[in-house]
Amino acid sequence: MACRGTGVDVNPSYPYDPDLHEPGSVAAKGSCSQHGQDSAERGTCTGEPVVSFQDRHGRWQSGCSLALEQLVDRGEIQPLGQGA
Ligand SMILES: [Zn+2]
Repeated sequence: MACRGTGVDVNPSYPYDPDLHEPGSVAAKGSCSQHGQDSAERGTCTGEPVVSFQDRHGRWQSGCSLALEQLVDRGEIQPLGQGA
């Protein structure tokens, strides 16, 4: 319904909020779940989440500033502060 007709699903992003995440999950503990699952990119991860978002499966994930950049780049989520 909020579709802009591009044919691509772009999820909204929110300032990181541990309350959005499942208790006990990586994200709820204040870590970057985006890179926590991807050891190949861990070297560049700041580990400090700045964004909360739902992935394409509808699961809440947290991302550091680098993850935010990458996800926006890939068109998976909106830049922070848009659509709020
Ligand atoms: Zn990260």
